Amino acid sequence: MGTLMRKYRNMGSLDRMVRAFLGTCCIVLGVFAPGVIGVSLLNALVVAFGVINVVSSAARVCPAYIACGISTLKSDDTVSESELDSKDVKDMFEIRKTRNKIVMLAVVIVTVLLVLFSIVLLHVTHDLAMSRDSMRGEAAAVLAVDLHKNATRPGFSGDGGDRALFEELAMDVNLIVFHDEDVHKISSSYERLGSDPLLVEKLLTSLKKNKLSKTQVTRKMLMHEGHHFLQSTLPVTDQTWVSVVFDSNVHIGSISGLFVPKIVIVSVSVLWLAIWGVTYGLRKYSQQTIKAARELRYRSTHDSLTGLRNRIGLDETLKNRIDQTDPMKNGFAVVLIDLVRFRYVNDTLGYELGDQLLVEVAERLKRISSEYYDIIRMSSDVFCVICPCDHDRANACRVANKIQDCIEAQKQLGDIPLNMQTRVGMSFYPFDSASGPELVRLADIALTQSKKHNIRISYYQADNDSHSVRKLTLLAGLRSAIEEGELSLVYQPKVDIQKNTLVGVEALVRWTHPEYGAISPVEFVGWAEKSGLIDKLTHWVLHTAEEQSRLWTAAGYYIPIAINLSPVNLCNEDLALLVEKLVTEGAFGHGLLELELTENAVMEDPTKALETMLAFHKLGIQIAIDDFGTGLSSFTYLRRFPVSNLKIDRTFVMDTGIEDRDAVLLRSMIELGHNLECVVTAEGVEDQEVLELLRKYGCDYVQGYGVCRPTTAQGVLEWYLASGYQGQQLAA
Ligand code: C2E
Ligand code: MG
Ligand code: MG
Repeated sequence: MGTLMRKYRNMGSLDRMVRAFLGTCCIVLGVFAPGVIGVSLLNALVVAFGVINVVSSAARVCPAYIACGISTLKSDDTVSESELDSKDVKDMFEIRKTRNKIVMLAVVIVTVLLVLFSIVLLHVTHDLAMSRDSMRGEAAAVLAVDLHKNATRPGFSGDGGDRALFEELAMDVNLIVFHDEDVHKISSSYERLGSDPLLVEKLLTSLKKNKLSKTQVTRKMLMHEGHHFLQSTLPVTDQTWVSVVFDSNVHIGSISGLFVPKIVIVSVSVLWLAIWGVTYGLRKYSQQTIKAARELRYRSTHDSLTGLRNRIGLDETLKNRIDQTDPMKNGFAVVLIDLVRFRYVNDTLGYELGDQLLVEVAERLKRISSEYYDIIRMSSDVFCVICPCDHDRANACRVANKIQDCIEAQKQLGDIPLNMQTRVGMSFYPFDSASGPELVRLADIALTQSKKHNIRISYYQADNDSHSVRKLTLLAGLRSAIEEGELSLVYQPKVDIQKNTLVGVEALVRWTHPEYGAISPVEFVGWAEKSGLIDKLTHWVLHTAEEQSRLWTAAGYYIPIAINLSPVNLCNEDLALLVEKLVTEGAFGHGLLELELTENAVMEDPTKALETMLAFHKLGIQIAIDDFGTGLSSFTYLRRFPVSNLKIDRTFVMDTGIEDRDAVLLRSMIELGHNLECVVTAEGVEDQEVLELLRKYGCDYVQGYGVCRPTTAQGVLEWYLASGYQGQQLAA
């Protein structure tokens, strides 16, 4: 029974309180003050009503509510509080706040309405009472007028019947006075107030203020020493009126009439009904609002086709993930999966089958994923899986592989067998970033890389991020670095290992950034090429090296300087003019300038390169092919170029052992260079053993840490003086 009762409980605490109060009032009214209602059947009904209310408030069950499917409990049957998520609770809180405000407002409005209603009621009652009370006075006045008309002398005359009636009616009358419009007394028929001339005077004065009607009765309420007097004035002739004044408690009576239990009960009931109605209406409204908000939230955060979370839902998912993950112990991977050439499926098989494919992919993802994974559909053919992992990325990669295999397994679309390919980009929390949106961006960069290089999976690598903060900062600062002296040159000696002479130095640019420190030219020369700053950079290098050459020449040292050119420089007419100027008018005459071009720079536009190289050659400038062996040289072209020096790339030189296959290769390269009638330079010579090997193979020049690291101009001189290498003479 108790369980059954509990199941049906459907009353809120406010409801119970009001009901208990109302019920008790009804019982008290019906049992202890039956006279108020007066009708015994009604009294019995009121008592029964009271008992029902008290019982239902105690049992917290209202059968009427059950019949109407209503509940006024805090929680409700449509959205139970246990089901609410944090967003619902927030909504609920907001709605409750609004609801309380509306309830307060409703109570105030109903109270004001009740007060207004009472005032109106008071007036109506008062008017009714006044007209009822004054009827007697008016009747007395009419009789008095009749008697007066028949009287031969002041006083009362007429037949006994009228007089008796008059006496009866005028029992309460204090004053009957005949007067003109200005209340000049013509005669007085009845004057019980004679003993109080002040009162008579006062009443008459107050009468004067009235605009007396010539056809109708004029009524007024007067007040004297706590007494209310009712006054009715009737026209007798054109110039004569009769005023009847008598004691009245009509006003007080009508006010106290408002406080009778019936009106009190009606008022309380109206108030309660208003509160209950508003509360109930608002509760229903808030339930619907929460449901609608939930629905809306679901729709806005989920993809309608696959039922997966969408891009908007992803932000929230990542935020929760980050909150729940202890970065010291665990991490998670953001895996972006792109369906390769999905567009063609749509274009060739139609959108319907395209949609089917997406649903199938979503299903496969759900099947393969554990409950700890989050799956999101990012855009039409890009899915995202967030999976927890330890700090070992390889584990996450294995998961990604599994996901790929699962999606790529053959599927049947209608009658068509389909093999889908995927590309995956991954980023890791907390290694790559601690911010959700940033992790997605980084995974997207990795995805772009895997699509670009046609590989199945790519991790995020900062080098591939063309938008990294560091890169953007450096790019923005490169121009001012060139203009404002953040660049400097270091020089690396090049020595002839057959003659033991210093044959020159290579100028290598350095950028010391105020924030990031030393930046490698490998990093920023490429940006300078892409951002159109390479000509500016090369101009700066040429000017600076020329100044250094001037200083060395002045100090009596003959040290040719090799300058690296970018392929972009070859198309710049100004550069050719500058080189010409520096050679003919500046310190770069007499073979002191050498230019280095990489193989690829030459092969990019061989015709243009040949034209420029011939122009330089005419000026007596030595030209070297840099990083030889790494590019795509065509020997036919190389033979036609006025190249005097081949610089074998350091990757062929470093760590070369005598027995190595590399050594064989190296030897062939040296021979090839000689066959092309070039002087051969080996770059990247780090130790004496390799140097000796090169000497044995007949290599002409070497450059490398084993000889001297790139150093300042002063450092070069110090090294030179201590090294034992001989200097060279100025060319004629
Ligand atoms: P590069 O022209 O081949 O320059 C030689 C690079 O090898 C230099 O790196 C040098 O420091 C390094 N190197 C020299 N000896 C050794 C060695 O024994 N072992 C190893 N591991 N490395 C050695 P750096 O200075 O970082 O320059 C890199 C590249 O940047 C240069 O390669 C060149 O292509 C480019 N670069 C440098 N300065 C300029 C410049 O002023 N203009 C242009 N366009 N490119 C420049
Ligand atoms: Mg070089
Ligand atoms: Mg090189």
